[in-house]
Amino acid sequence: MAKHDGFLHIERQSPAYRPVEERTRDFDPVQGMLSDEEIRQQANRCMDCGVPFCHMYGCPVGNRIPDYSDALYHDDWKGALELLQSTNNFPEITGRICPALCEAACTLAINGEASTCQHIELKIAEKGWEMGWIVPEVSTFKSGKQVMVIGSGPAGLAAAQQLARKGHKVVVLEKSDRIGGLLMYGIPNFKLEKSVIDRRIEQMKAEGVKFETEVEVGRDISPRYINNNYDAVLIASGTPLARDLNVPGREYRGIHLALEFLTQQTQLVLGDTIPEDQLIDPKGKHVVVIGGGDTGSDCVGSVIRRGCASVTQIELLPEPSQERLVSNPWPEWPAILRTSSSHHEGAKRLWSIGTKEFYGTDGRVVKVGCTRLAWEGGSFTEIKGADFLLDADLVLLSMGFVPYRDSPLVSGFGLETDERGNILVDEQYRTSKKGVFAAGDAVNGASLVVRAIARGRESAEAIDAFLQ
Ligand SMILES: Cc1cc2nc3c(=O)[nH]c(=O)nc-3n(C[C@H](O)[C@H](O)[C@H](O)COP(=O)(O)OP(=O)(O)OC[C@H]3O[C@@H](n4cnc5c(N)ncnc54)[C@H](O)[C@@H]3O)c2cc1C
Ligand code: SF4
Repeated sequence: MAKHDGFLHIERQSPAYRPVEERTRDFDPVQGMLSDEEIRQQANRCMDCGVPFCHMYGCPVGNRIPDYSDALYHDDWKGALELLQSTNNFPEITGRICPALCEAACTLAINGEASTCQHIELKIAEKGWEMGWIVPEVSTFKSGKQVMVIGSGPAGLAAAQQLARKGHKVVVLEKSDRIGGLLMYGIPNFKLEKSVIDRRIEQMKAEGVKFETEVEVGRDISPRYINNNYDAVLIASGTPLARDLNVPGREYRGIHLALEFLTQQTQLVLGDTIPEDQLIDPKGKHVVVIGGGDTGSDCVGSVIRRGCASVTQIELLPEPSQERLVSNPWPEWPAILRTSSSHHEGAKRLWSIGTKEFYGTDGRVVKVGCTRLAWEGGSFTEIKGADFLLDADLVLLSMGFVPYRDSPLVSGFGLETDERGNILVDEQYRTSKKGVFAAGDAVNGASLVVRAIARGRESAEAIDAFLQ
């Protein structure tokens, strides 16, 4: 490192967001990029710690942050890219949408501003694409073994790419009409433009991975057929079951699961036509988003772009603290209040709110009956006389996901599940059925893209060892 005290002289700099009035008129990315020189300066803030917590504790894929920061500072972009690609198949994706666990664990964050690890990652990856350095890595060795990957989210994609590069024939089956899992039909275009995914898929196809869409294992093709025709199977099917809210009035029209809505938004952005009777249209409507997490925030940003009259996001839990609590020290992920770019675009947020009932007129929802809650020792009670109504012509339910215990994948392959209902695997990603492996959200429950990539890579290692 040229200057280990760079952080003393250089302030942390993050890329600017487009102005709210401009960005809410389209679904294009909300955030810009720093220049090459600016990012080299940022790389110089890294202290090259003896024990780099960013890499060893924070980053699930183990990105070699101090090493590539150093290479970047020395203007060795290609070297930095090689280091980055040695641990992460899709750094241009995590560089855009990862919550940056590495930055929370950065030593500089103990009492100051972390290194800009995530934007450094994105800039290196984009330089690689721009310069034509990211090319298909076709294996010259052919193992003659065939692997089926079920699900094309980040776990399935990372595993498929690793396995193809080891010389195995890989087929990815996807029930949806587009590849990418929640990267495609979950995360909105303004956070992750879909051309970024397509670019990688082209690379993977050139490496020999075969993709088949609109094929649902358990419905269109039987697990028995797959077992008989493939040497190994990886289930990377995610957590497809959203948590519902069964309170009186749930049957009214205008109440939808968040992913139904977000999927349509991406389809519209990509030029698909949705029949009018199926279109979830927020235009001119008062929208209530139930659930205070990231999926809810993505709904907020999307309904604002579609011209809603108002949007209120309500959450059962109390408002998190603005600062880390003593019980949540560095380098742990800080459980603090998070305000996304979408929240800055005009949402009202309410905390400690329970939903009791939906009210409707002519079969359509018009109001949500809510109550304020008092939290103590991890449980809540309703505050007497604190009921209130919210106007709601559209309600989006974004309360997380539940394990899919009765999935045809679980019964079809005859798999055991854990106590939560997720697919049970051992430390080698082996399910209870020989030759069938599982990874990603299907095993861990709803999590993060970077964890799915990490588990996809590790499961590919385990499958490769099994095939040998
Ligand atoms: C709205 C939303 C926004 C998010 N934003 C972020 C974010 O900004 N940053 C972040 O890090 N994480 C985010 N996440 C979480 C992240 O997207 C997931 O943790 C990650 O995608 C899980 O990857 P996966 O490969 O395990 O599963 P998925 O991405 O869920 O992919 C599973 C795929 O399997 C397919 N499938 C399922 N069953 C079958 C079957 N029987 N046959 C064939 N195909 C099947 C599904 O159609 C799907 O395409 C978000 C999640 C949501 C819902
Ligand atoms: S913890 Fe922070 S300062 Fe230390 S090596 Fe990692 S990014 Fe650099």
